[in-house]
Amino acid sequence: MSAPDTFDLIILGAGPGGYVAAIRAGQLGLKTAIVEREALGGICLNWGCIPTKALLRSGEVYEALDHLGEYGVSVQGRAYDFEAVVQRSRKVAQQLSAGVAFLMKKHKASVIEGVASLVKGASAPQVKVALKGGGERLLTARNVILATGARAREIPAAGLVADGERIWTYRDAMVPKATPKSLLVIGSGAIGIEFASFYRALGVEVTVIEALPRILPQEDAEISAAAQAAFEKRGLAFRVGANVKKLSRTGGGVAAEIEREGKTERLEAERAIIAVGIVANLEGVGVEALGLACERGHVVVDAHGATNVPGLYAIGDVAGPPWLAHKAMHEAVHCVEHIAGVAGPRTPAPIPSCTYSTPQIASVGLTEDQAKAAGRKVRVGRFPFRVNGKAIAAGETTGLVKTLFDAETGALVGAHMLGAEVTEMIQGFALAMTLEATEAEIFATVFPHPTLSEVMHEAALAAYDRPLHI
Ligand code: NAD
Repeated sequence: MSAPDTFDLIILGAGPGGYVAAIRAGQLGLKTAIVEREALGGICLNWGCIPTKALLRSGEVYEALDHLGEYGVSVQGRAYDFEAVVQRSRKVAQQLSAGVAFLMKKHKASVIEGVASLVKGASAPQVKVALKGGGERLLTARNVILATGARAREIPAAGLVADGERIWTYRDAMVPKATPKSLLVIGSGAIGIEFASFYRALGVEVTVIEALPRILPQEDAEISAAAQAAFEKRGLAFRVGANVKKLSRTGGGVAAEIEREGKTERLEAERAIIAVGIVANLEGVGVEALGLACERGHVVVDAHGATNVPGLYAIGDVAGPPWLAHKAMHEAVHCVEHIAGVAGPRTPAPIPSCTYSTPQIASVGLTEDQAKAAGRKVRVGRFPFRVNGKAIAAGETTGLVKTLFDAETGALVGAHMLGAEVTEMIQGFALAMTLEATEAEIFATVFPHPTLSEVMHEAALAAYDRPLHI
């Protein structure tokens, strides 16, 4: 039986923004349709967050074999089957996408497979769907949420255009037939660094090229520098302050012409990954026809996700930075609660950022430079993993935790971490910031011993010149 054409809510896109919006809408009793052109779970589950974590895990397991001797363990020989590595990652993605299908069913959302576009309606825009199986369907609702996500940015003028064979986007980089001998990674944001880390773990010669003066430029400068040093130890090469002027195919691979400190250098490799940011998927959403207000390539929204078009909301990547799945999910819940009239006041929650390389990087709140630029006087604490008992026992001593507290109020204003499992720990600081904790509450918190998380406690104590174990 086909679903009815009139809904309370129609959601365009079933990525983490869209499918979470559908779940919350189901919980609140809204009759909801969700339109997806590709696969449930969007980029995050199918081509982003999740399958890359599976690849990275394979890389970590393989690379860890280099250090078995340190643990008193030895094995005879080692090898990886790249096809099996990729297959595992695809299986993980499929399992989670199937999980989203289950969740849509559970919350009674009508999943419509096809390409949606917005057309002018009597009140909210109407949704026209070119159905996957052929034919068209027109849907109406009082409210529509745009959650169409984003895709890899390409820069044609510099030849930064994927060909799927030698020049890859993140999608191509996830499913190649074999590992290349050498690889250029253009861009050192989370995507570039995660792929660089993965391929390096499998023994590929990787060079990361970054236009800005340091890698992971969104992170605290001290963490960027420590991360680069740790990556170099693993054999990764970097060119920072290096703009790719031209990327082209050569006889058997690729070549990048880079400009650095006024000089030109040519780098060659078998393959290249373009990781120079992302652009919002705004095609067909009626930017012109509906007069949808956009700014710097994304939809302009208010605190509830409302656009300038009545009845139309936007969440996640299409609504602007930070382009993170957890930001999309957070916005989804608030947006639907606002539509249903049950939302509480929206207080801006700090959004943590995580890069799942070896070692990992995680942060929340202001960097030291941002705090200074905002005119805030801060107390800074630092504590290294190398003196932490659990880190030493686990053989994971790389990295540090850095904390920033407002010098007057004691409020935690930022935390920055480099090391093993820091992406699992940053939530402690995110919660502290959400609860507006000061140094006193963090000091008073009991951190279990022995854990890596004790370094968080020590970094807070260090900001007040009273660390215990150093
Ligand atoms: P990004 O914007 O974070 O990084 C792109 C980098 O490329 C920048 O540092 C930029 O200076 C550099 N660059 C641009 N043009 C260049 C050129 N011509 N030559 C050399 N360098 C150049 O983008 P991304 O890494 O592609 O990721 C896209 C988005 O997805 C980001 O917002 C990221 O946070 C998000 N993401 C997050 C995760 C995660 O949370 N683990 C993982 C993947 C992606």
